[in-house]
Amino acid sequence: MTRAEEISTRLAEVRAQIPKDTKLIVVTKTFPISDVEILYGLGVRDFAENRDAEGAEKSAALPDDAIWHFQGAIQSNKLKSIVNWCDYIHSLDSLEHARKISQLAQQLNKTVNCFIQVNLDRLAENEKPSNRSGVNPTDLEGFVSGISGLAGIEVVGVMGVGPLNEPPGPAFDLLRKCSAQIQSTFPRARSISAGMSNDYLTALKHGATHIRLGSSILGTR
Ligand SMILES: *Cc1c(COP(=O)(O)O)cnc(C)c1O
Repeated sequence: MTRAEEISTRLAEVRAQIPKDTKLIVVTKTFPISDVEILYGLGVRDFAENRDAEGAEKSAALPDDAIWHFQGAIQSNKLKSIVNWCDYIHSLDSLEHARKISQLAQQLNKTVNCFIQVNLDRLAENEKPSNRSGVNPTDLEGFVSGISGLAGIEVVGVMGVGPLNEPPGPAFDLLRKCSAQIQSTFPRARSISAGMSNDYLTALKHGATHIRLGSSILGTR
């Protein structure tokens, strides 16, 4: 089997399992540009990267109608570049970063679509705060009021990563609650980015609108 056939088969398997209105984002981090081009040829337009340099390089190599998502930990000194190449940031969890994105977006005369990343681990870890990324659900209200009114940022929804060693269903339910909560400030922010290769079917059952899949389509990294 060629690489293109392999990717095509896996992509078809995933597409057969998800509702038509689900946004499938293929996570191409660590995979070569040739794989991204194969995906593009198969009709994929949404690609996600975790690192600035890799995203900048791949986005420059693909046609303009490809849509680029940044979902990694944000480093402040990389934001200028990230805002330049990406259309969506899934990993916004700091007001300082939000203010900087707002400034940079205005300079570039563009709007950056942002998901607020929520830390879903508290639930799994018995209410103990964890050090994984994301705004703690209890801090969400303050975060939302801090971010509202920032020009150049369109809040489109919430993003979460399922807990490591727990069934993900309850965590995704929490994310859905967070989604409802932010909609009282941002009525159009109805998107829920949740679900990776190992838990996307559960995420879809619990309200995900966007899934981010890497290994189930491209193989192990
Ligand atoms: C790597 C990554 C994914 C994709 O993970 P797979 O298990 O390869 O599907 C999705 N979301 C985030 C935030 C990631 O870092």
